[in-house]
Amino acid sequence: MAKGERIIAASSAPHIVVLGGGAGGLELACALAGDGRRVTLVDRVGSHLWKPRLHEFAAGTVDSTLSEMSFYTLASLRGFRFEQGEVEAVDRASKTVRLSPVRSPDDRIVGPGRSIPYDRLVVALGGVTPDFGTTGVAENAIRLDERSDADRFRELFVAAVLRARANGKPAKIAIIGSGATGTELAAHLRQAERAFLDQSEKERQTKLLTITLLEAAPEIMPGADGELRRSVSDRLDRLDITKHVDAKIAAVEIDGVRSADGESWPADITVWAAGLVGNPCLAQLADFEMDKKGRIVVDDRLRTSVDPAILAIGDAASFTPPGANAPLPPTAQCASQQAVYLANALPAMMTGKEPEPFVFQDRGRLLSLAQGGSVGSIGLFRSRDDILVEGQFALAAYHGLQRRHQWSVLGPLRGSVAILADMISPAKGPALKLHGG
Ligand SMILES: Cc1cc2nc3c(=O)[nH]c(=O)nc-3n(C[C@H](O)[C@H](O)[C@H](O)COP(=O)(O)OP(=O)(O)OC[C@H]3O[C@@H](n4cnc5c(N)ncnc54)[C@H](O)[C@@H]3O)c2cc1C
Repeated sequence: MAKGERIIAASSAPHIVVLGGGAGGLELACALAGDGRRVTLVDRVGSHLWKPRLHEFAAGTVDSTLSEMSFYTLASLRGFRFEQGEVEAVDRASKTVRLSPVRSPDDRIVGPGRSIPYDRLVVALGGVTPDFGTTGVAENAIRLDERSDADRFRELFVAAVLRARANGKPAKIAIIGSGATGTELAAHLRQAERAFLDQSEKERQTKLLTITLLEAAPEIMPGADGELRRSVSDRLDRLDITKHVDAKIAAVEIDGVRSADGESWPADITVWAAGLVGNPCLAQLADFEMDKKGRIVVDDRLRTSVDPAILAIGDAASFTPPGANAPLPPTAQCASQQAVYLANALPAMMTGKEPEPFVFQDRGRLLSLAQGGSVGSIGLFRSRDDILVEGQFALAAYHGLQRRHQWSVLGPLRGSVAILADMISPAKGPALKLHGG
């Protein structure tokens, strides 16, 4: 232990420590707290932000303060302990987690490093966008992984649009990756542009942005159902968003991107939104078994394969359902269902019982394309193929997951007030982005 480090003393009640207060971890900490349980939530930042709306905060079509909640306030409200700090290591032998010191924005240490003992540990540290070793991504592109990325994009975006207004030439935005993040960001930028136009410019359909979506696969939204792909593609056309498929980007430069076969696209801002892997810190924490996307392998009770006292959920976990040939994809829908499962299963496991296995209920895939409308594919009946949903029904389905999240984190009364504030805010945009159901 380093000099000045604190040890958080153990007491007799079993201690559950949840690492990461995102979509899964925060819901789990709130659900477990109370009933005489000792629960500690750890996060490197002091407030929770609902990540599925990160691209809307980046575009500015939704005010992030509506989706931000202080962990300190939630801890006293819901009865868990909050420890702020970067998770550095897990010592399985002594059952402790080590946190680094907390630093101020000017890099001074404002809180010491700590060691936290646990009886059960749940790793919910999320994932990041990989660069696949592509030249220049780290230096010249923005990846939307956390709040600071959305803030940085927003600053660059506003500056680029103001420059475009001043010199009469549209700003060029390139988005690499046409999954949900890329397509939704493109649509929300088209909407954000309108705030910079006066009425006559809107009527003349003045454009301050050219938006280009680049996809390495032969079709946009690889992996999505064909009907959904076609619907999204038509909607992007209507929003005047240019799409290029088979564009395997080899380098991101300061003023554009270049493909492996020599084609190039100029860009004032490049967003890299290609794929998701486990948080790189996961591989350093302990000797976990990892999958090829850097996620911790868990069994059907979400226990790590190396240690049943350590579990993992959400984007940090790699769970392959029985009979499936790939792990579940990283979504808030899955993280949330795993949190609900562990809220019951973990206390049972701690009394020596073997709970029923975790079963994922796929509630579909939904997208909010701002003025392009809402669309998704939902499996209404287990035995039937997914059906395409649009308009108000799709919008209501968006609302479902974040509404549920707000309720489970804030409780029914405060949750309802938060939802109402969200609904009446002038900064909410036309289509709240709330995947799943
Ligand atoms: C732009 C965008 C749009 C998305 N849209 C959707 C959608 O529509 N529907 C959907 O279902 N999913 C969507 N997702 C995916 C969804 O956000 C994630 O799957 C979900 O947030 C995963 O939840 P999680 O709890 O595993 O991790 P996260 O929500 O990522 O939370 C991880 C937490 O760990 C903390 N943390 C990380 N490293 C450390 C460390 N070393 N020490 C301490 N704390 C740490 C972080 O601060 C964070 O609070 C979207 C993602 C993005 C980026």
